[in-house]
Amino acid sequence: MAFELPVLPYAHDALEPYISAVTLQFHHLKHHQAYVNNVNNLIAGTPFENATLEEIVMKADGGIFNNGAQVYNHTFYFEQFSADGCREPQGELKAAIEKDFGSVEAFREQFNKAAATLFGSGWAWLVKTAAGKLEIVQTSNAGCPLRDEKTPLLTCDVWEHAYYLDKQNLRPKYIEDFWKVVDWQVISKRFSA
Ligand code: FE
Repeated sequence: MAFELPVLPYAHDALEPYISAVTLQFHHLKHHQAYVNNVNNLIAGTPFENATLEEIVMKADGGIFNNGAQVYNHTFYFEQFSADGCREPQGELKAAIEKDFGSVEAFREQFNKAAATLFGSGWAWLVKTAAGKLEIVQTSNAGCPLRDEKTPLLTCDVWEHAYYLDKQNLRPKYIEDFWKVVDWQVISKRFSA
């Protein structure tokens, strides 16, 4: 059963002016689609032919891992945005952030730093550990916290393809605008799942 490019839960221009339609079209319809095509081609005739995406992220290596994890990471990234969602953490998630980071502001600063300082291509994540503690982690390239048995809650794609058309080299400006389209209702659902 081949993987398919997920349909986004919003239009490609829905996140403007923070993420432009042209960035989203290239990111979703070209980059994300290429990872889907690549993983489908690579798993054919291998033990991963009928694996779930999560199984590929947990167990595969090389090109199958790289492309499979990028499919997982991008789906996870795109699904957390909305045009008019909840822009601040609420309820139990807010309480957990305050407990583990001191305040929402301190959390945001620490997350921004992780996203801004990641060298090269990769991802910054808010994750929940098996013990239920919140942590911020960085992964390089296609890295995914599932691999370390941590539950992803929120992620920022800091590959240049995520922001270069809109922001050129200004990764901090991309990170600042990123918060304006994150829908915390989605993050809360992941936290409570
Ligand atoms: Fe990306």
